[in-house]
Amino acid sequence: MDRLGIVVPCYNEEEVFPISEPALRGVLDDLVAKGKIAADSFVMFVNDGSKDATWDLIEEAHRQHPVQVYGVKLAGNVGHQFALTAGLITAKDMCDVTVSIDADLQDDVNVIEEMVDKYHEGCDIVYGVRSDRKTDSFFKRTSAQAFYKLMASMGVKTVYNHADFRLMSRRAVEQFSHYEETNLFLRGIVPTLGYKTDCVYYQRLERAAGVSKYPLSKMLALAFNGISSFSIKPINMILGVGFAMIFVAIAAAIYAIVSYCLGNVAPGWTSLILSIWFIGGLQLLAIGLVGQYIGKVYIEVKHRPRYNIEKVLSDGTEEN
Ligand code: UDP
Ligand code: MG
Repeated sequence: MDRLGIVVPCYNEEEVFPISEPALRGVLDDLVAKGKIAADSFVMFVNDGSKDATWDLIEEAHRQHPVQVYGVKLAGNVGHQFALTAGLITAKDMCDVTVSIDADLQDDVNVIEEMVDKYHEGCDIVYGVRSDRKTDSFFKRTSAQAFYKLMASMGVKTVYNHADFRLMSRRAVEQFSHYEETNLFLRGIVPTLGYKTDCVYYQRLERAAGVSKYPLSKMLALAFNGISSFSIKPINMILGVGFAMIFVAIAAAIYAIVSYCLGNVAPGWTSLILSIWFIGGLQLLAIGLVGQYIGKVYIEVKHRPRYNIEKVLSDGTEEN
């Protein structure tokens, strides 16, 4: 029977913890009773440097339920993406399959069962996808949709309306752990792992208690990080504009020379305007070219795995 580890990053979640902790244990009990996961499956709470009583609550819960409740205490606040990564990588050596979920129960815990079913059907990654955004404010809804569109136009593969509520098998987390980059955007990395994947759909609820730990500034930072960690398209755009400027400069040159020949220009204007256009265009072109190398260096230093072998068939033996 496969052991499930539910990983929950927590930052100042003392208000919601007393609600989410029993709820998640309830999910475990239910799945164990149905024979879908092993009896020693667990919920791992990752305390992301909380300043409130979150860690004390985790310790207390672990004392009461040492088999079901695990805790990881990070030494300081590193943010949601790193806290989740720390939890996943710690959990992968203790279980066969992980589910990551926020502490605030906005994601429907009841679809974890569906995720586990899909895992048993052979999926390595199952995305929790919001079926609508009715509970979001108009601003959050439109900004999120604009973000997904922008990501797609930048060539970054993401799953539409999926946040970080997902199931990952042990080998998927193992492969993910080889992405050692510091600018971490999980939602962009996971779709590049490959494997058989599927989605489950749910209604996102309001926060069970407490307030959002993702103010607008953190949301924008995450969005920018998502694009800049995966795409060097903005650099290519500079190069494109540089080329375009050269053509504009040629057009401006023709216009300036014609005007000069017609004689209706102030002295010095022609040479001045030609210099401005050509130097401007050349500068952009040069920056774009230098950018191409920087883009390559950027991709190289990430040292991402270049491939992920799922299976090898060789003289009659099959390996994972
Ligand atoms: N979180 C974290 N570190 C942070 C900020 C948030 O671990 O620095 C956790 C938080 O405890 C929650 C999850 O990330 O479990 C998502 O945060 P939140 O629900 O506040 O974001 P929202 O749903 O409002 O976007
Ligand atoms: Mg939330």
